[in-house]
Amino acid sequence: MQFDTPSIRHAADALAATLREHRRTLHRHPEIAFEEHATASYVESVLGELGVKSRRVVGTGLVAVLEGRGQGCVAVRADMDALPVDEAPGRDGYRSETPGMSHACGHDGHVAVLLGLAELLAGADELPGTVVLYFQPAEEGPGGALPMVQAGVLDDPAPQAVLALHVSSRLPTGIVAVRPGPSTGSDDAFDITVHGVGGHAAHPDTAVDPIPIAAEIISALQQVITREIDPVTPVVLTFGSIHGGTRRNVIAASVKLEGTLRTANQHNRDLLVARIPEVARSVAATHRATATVTHRAGYPVGVNDPALTEIVADAARAVLGDHRVGPVPTPTLGGEDFYAFGKSGLPVSMFLLGVANVQRGITAPHHSADFDLDEDALPAGVAVFAETLRRLLVT
Ligand SMILES: [Zn+2]
Ligand SMILES: [Zn+2]
Repeated sequence: MQFDTPSIRHAADALAATLREHRRTLHRHPEIAFEEHATASYVESVLGELGVKSRRVVGTGLVAVLEGRGQGCVAVRADMDALPVDEAPGRDGYRSETPGMSHACGHDGHVAVLLGLAELLAGADELPGTVVLYFQPAEEGPGGALPMVQAGVLDDPAPQAVLALHVSSRLPTGIVAVRPGPSTGSDDAFDITVHGVGGHAAHPDTAVDPIPIAAEIISALQQVITREIDPVTPVVLTFGSIHGGTRRNVIAASVKLEGTLRTANQHNRDLLVARIPEVARSVAATHRATATVTHRAGYPVGVNDPALTEIVADAARAVLGDHRVGPVPTPTLGGEDFYAFGKSGLPVSMFLLGVANVQRGITAPHHSADFDLDEDALPAGVAVFAETLRRLLVT
């Protein structure tokens, strides 16, 4: 095929059945972080049949390279991991065959799209430049993008930009949405342990009760968010777990809080990463206790390069039509490790591809047992990637 816009549109549509087959095969065999062995083997075998060379990195990750005539080089990434979510019944012929595990975030669709893209590119007469495909493990945690970067995937060969998509259950099928600038949240973990002195419930004066202190720390931190953060910038601090004590008539010796902090800009993140331990320790000290705080930095704020995102949007309009491309109105505080590929300043951009279909009953949110995706949307993902690559490489 010619590598031009009408041919790309046509070739992507012609891949519909293949994309469905890839997605269903992957969907039946979900694997979680760094255990994507069967997934990686499947990717290798499909690429092998297409004559596309690939190499393994960080265990289950893969880098595939399709060389073209020009100097340009652009990478496209798909994450491969599933989730420990027990899938609800009702999927005829493609239900997860692993109990307690499913592709509840749609990463099976991402891999299918990248395999379809490889097929489209392998069938092109000549590519105007080099395309690199990253098949990445462990997006749902602990993160596979940063290990791939640390393993040197951005050096061999060196791309000028990295692209990705995420399917979205909040957008109608086949609709593409883009957002320049900050798009996904930072994601930091905090463990706070309040150390008191255990004792008899009837004699609190002889103990230091950590339970009301833990409650006060939670309230004080929510107050930091409403009083110290610019109110038009989104921030979330959720303590999803609190544990302390054994029975009603015993004052506990300690209480442990586990929280997650999400922000949409680095300023708020820095401020709260400093304030959370400060407030926790001082509230504890006020009541004669101590608090130890551990912080684990997670994914940074995800920022889509504005110029690259505009090229993606233009490409999407060219292959799908203006009416099927729109903006993402607000950032999400969900974390996304794709942006680690842009850590050193490399332009990166991720677009959303709608996969909801009310008529087919496909509306459940990501990470839920009922999550599903409308496979008819997948050719649009291939077409947008291919057209964006064409525009970036033909310069
Ligand atoms: Zn997810
Ligand atoms: Zn995801």
